[in-house]
Order: sequence, then structure tokens, then C-alpha cells
Amino acid sequence: MRELERHDSPDPCPRRLAIIGRGRLGHALAAACAQAGLAVDGPLGRGADGAGADAILLCVPDGEIAAAAAAAAPGPLLGHCSGASGLDVLGAREGFSLHPLMTVTPAGADFAGAGAAVDGTSPRALAAAEALATRLGLAPARIAASDRAAYHAAASVASNFLVTLEAAAERLGTTAGISRAQLAPLVRATVENWARLGPQAALTGPVARGDDATVRRQREAVAARTPEHLDLFDALVGATRAVAGNGVPASAPGPLRTIRTVASLRAALAGPRRAGATIGLVPTMGALHDGHLSLIRRARDTCDVVVVSLFVNPAQFGPAEDLAAYPRDEARDAQAAASAGADVLFAPAVAEVYPAGFATTVAVSGLTERLEGASRGAAHFTGVTTVVAKLLGMVQPDVAFFGHKDAQQAAVVRRMVRDLDLPVRIEALPTVREPDGLAMSSRNAYLGPEDRARAIALRRGLDAAEAAVAGGERSAAAIEAAVAAAMAPFGVEPEYAAVVDPDTFEPVGTIARDALVAVAAQVGPARLIDNTVLTPRREAPAGPGRPKAATGSGADRD
Ligand code: AMP
Repeated sequence: MRELERHDSPDPCPRRLAIIGRGRLGHALAAACAQAGLAVDGPLGRGADGAGADAILLCVPDGEIAAAAAAAAPGPLLGHCSGASGLDVLGAREGFSLHPLMTVTPAGADFAGAGAAVDGTSPRALAAAEALATRLGLAPARIAASDRAAYHAAASVASNFLVTLEAAAERLGTTAGISRAQLAPLVRATVENWARLGPQAALTGPVARGDDATVRRQREAVAARTPEHLDLFDALVGATRAVAGNGVPASAPGPLRTIRTVASLRAALAGPRRAGATIGLVPTMGALHDGHLSLIRRARDTCDVVVVSLFVNPAQFGPAEDLAAYPRDEARDAQAAASAGADVLFAPAVAEVYPAGFATTVAVSGLTERLEGASRGAAHFTGVTTVVAKLLGMVQPDVAFFGHKDAQQAAVVRRMVRDLDLPVRIEALPTVREPDGLAMSSRNAYLGPEDRARAIALRRGLDAAEAAVAGGERSAAAIEAAVAAAMAPFGVEPEYAAVVDPDTFEPVGTIARDALVAVAAQVGPARLIDNTVLTPRREAPAGPGRPKAATGSGADRD
């Protein structure tokens, strides 16, 4: 090696470079440096230490940088060419990194005009990296260590994955008699358009147009001819819909979209579903309160896409019930649903759900005939199961969320899903209550101040049931009497107060394991319901000398 000429000009670019690493990048950079008029030693083999150069550039695999850095001659600035690594791999040395954002094949690389990620441990080292990149025709940008993985992943998607996609296109194209050479001009024009115009303007084709029929036919062809690429096709349809803006993004929640037809709902959910997004459904009749919002938040926490349905279902109201008076305020509900993280508010008109000629009902027998079924009539639960079955068919959620406040409804829905093998998981969540214990309900809005004060009777009745069980009472009849007695001072008489099996809603005579005590009562203009789980403890009932458990609203064990 010739004697080092130390430069004293202000140009920070190293004049003499030693390039260590004889792979593709080492060769390509050595050629580019020579072409740029720099003195180059190399590319040198791994034993070389680069002594005598202004700077040593390590063009070795990522896993070998630290060892190569340790073996490098002391003195020169030390650089590496990894896109993914920070500067720490250089040890305590003053150094830099320079990663050309360009693909390098055995035929070499054209660095002119490409980007380059640079960084330096000192201003001098960074300046050297920037100057060297510029000298090679690269446009340097400083990428900090914390951004390296994201930078490198973006480069992989832009380059490596594009090749993977084109390979898939080529494979499918070959089955239809089209070659790589015939696809290549399309690829070049597409990439040019994307670079010049941005993704949305560059996007053409059936997904962007929302032409689902064509996409379906394409999918069938992929499934038949290159089934190994079907998942890739599905994922790309979903991602492409998101770019085109005609689908619900599969990732973070965006603004709430109100949808009124089953067709638009299907179109909006198709992309995310194909992209593997999980879909959560929260069925409601609106007039949303914190009880509903707790379900939406749970859906937001556990699902990728959250659909809240808002439909006051006429089929579940009896002729003398409050269908007409039921509170409706879609604008307020949309705001509340969005604030809890919903992506879609599905608010169909009655005619969309029950079009002319609608002739099907879904009915669960047995457990629908008791309590709410007995009080409100058989049509009530048939209305519920029919509309829930329809909503499950429309949304096709992975999970549907219900409130334990309507425990019998949740049990009926579970039974329907089980009996019909519907592919959905039903999650029931605890009752959300006002500070005094009253279960939140859209119908609480009917209560004037006096009735509101009396409405706490239901929770007090349940408190009495819990206290009785905690005190050793096991007779359902005695517990039911305790509920009615606790409600009486409020001037509220239970329509029913019943201890039942939590799954079958069969009456329970003696409590031996968890049971549900459910209560319904008319309070002024509002018919209210509530329930709680009674858990008998194993120990013997309290004797005369032992204190009974305190009564109070206590913890809700729903
Ligand atoms: P609704 O709008 O009354 O049909 O209720 C829609 C869903 O919200 C049902 O699954 C209810 O059980 C649930 N829900 C209603 N009130 C509450 C509440 N206070 N706490 C938790 N969930 C509730």
C-alpha cells in the first residue's frame, strides 16, 4: 500500500478508501469509488485490515461487522454498509454508516440518483459519510439507529417484496400464456406512475374501482392455478382496498363510517376480512350509554374492526310495548360509538332488514319460554334471535359482544349459535351501573326524578338476595321472597323475581352451585330488568352466634 496522503482541504470526503468484503456490494462500491476518482484499496478479503486508508468501508454481512471492525487497522475512519445496523457494531471507534438504497446484483449497481442512509458517531464521521455518498452520486439522508429497522423494512418491501410479487404475477401469467417480458413494461409504467403521482393516483384496476365481481373471478383463477399464492392475493386485495380508500383499514381505527345497506357493509368488510382482520360486532338498539360503550371498548381492545349495529328491532317489541317511544338519536350515538373506538355504525332501515316478502324466523325453544319470554310473550325472543341471526349473517363477525344485563338474551343467543353451528364467539360482559347501583339502560331515560329514585328497588332486591345467600340461605323461594321484601319499601313490585339456572333458565329449588337471580319490574313508565349471580360458599350456614354478611350493593358479580 502506498504512503497515506493526509488531506488538509475542507472536503470531508475520504480520498483513499479501503473496502473490505469481496461480495456484490464490495465490488460494486469499489467500482463506483474508482469511477468517482477516489483511490480504492480493494475490495479486500476478510483478512485485510485496511491500514493506510483515510477510511475503511466494511462491506461484510451484518453478523460479521463487529468482528471485522475489531480487526480493522486503528486510525482510519471506520464505516459499514449495513442498512439495518446502527453504529454500535463498530465498537468504540469513530465511524459512520453508508447504506446505498439500491439493489445490487452480480452485474453491479447503478448508484447514480439513488438514496443512501448515512449516520456518524461524530460530526466529522457523518460529514465524511455524506460527502462520500454525494461523490458516488447518492442522495444521503441521516437515518438514526432507532429508525434503522423501519427504514430497512421499507427498503425490503419496496425492492425484495416487489420481486416476490412479480414472481407471483409471472407464475400466474405463464398459465395464461403471458411471459415476464410481456409483464415487464406494465411493471415499469406502474412503478414510474407510483413514483411520480403517488399511490392513489397510480392505482388502477378492479379493486380500486370496487368491481367485486371481477375480483371474485380473479380470485377463483388464482385459487385454481396458483393456490400457493391465494393468501397473498387476499392480503393484497385488502391492502389495495385500503390504499384506494374503499374499504375499512385493517389496522388502526379511523373515523366512524355509517353504513345503511347490507351490500355496502359487505363491501366495506370484505377487504379487512381477506387481509385477516378480526371483526367484532356489538348489536344495539341505540340510545347508547356506558353499558353499550363498555362492549364497544372491549371489541376495540380485542378486534381489528369494530362494527356497532344500531337497529330498533320492531320484531322484538310486543304490540303494547314502547317501540314508538324508544329513544332514538343517531347523531349522538354515532359520536358515542366513535369515541369508544367503533369503525362502522351499521344503521339499516327496517325495510333493509325485513324487506317485502321476508318469511323466516329463528326461534329457540325452552329457555325462551321463561322469565322475559313468559312476561313479554314468545314473539319477543323470536324477534331477538331472528335479528341477531341476521346481523351475524350480515357482518359475519369473529366475536359478538352482549351485556350480562340481558342475561337471558345472552343465553338464548349462545344457544342459537351453538345449535346452528354459527361461526362466531359470543362474549358476555358485566353490567355497567349508575353510581347508586341502578343498571344502565336506554329505558332509564323514561324515568322522572321520583321514579328514578324508586328504580333502585331492583338493585336493592338483588342485594337482598346476595345477602341472603351469603347468610346461608339456599332456598330459592326464600331468596325470591327476600327480593320482593327489599323492593316493597320503594313501592315497586317485581313482575318476576326468580332464581334460575344461568344456562337453561330452569327454576332452581335449592341453590347448590352458581345460580342467577333475575328481576323485572315496572317503575312508572319504564319496565326495567336486572340480575346478579348468586354464588353459594361451601362453609356451613351462619349459626345464631355468627354475624350475617352485610347487605349493600357490593361488588357486582355478573
Ligand atoms: P340494547 O341496546 O338495550 O339492545 O343493548 C345492546 C347490548 O348492550 C345488549 O347486549 C345489552 O345486554 C347491552 N347492555 C345494555 N345495558 C347494559 C349495561 N348496563 N351494561 C352492560 N351491557 C349492557
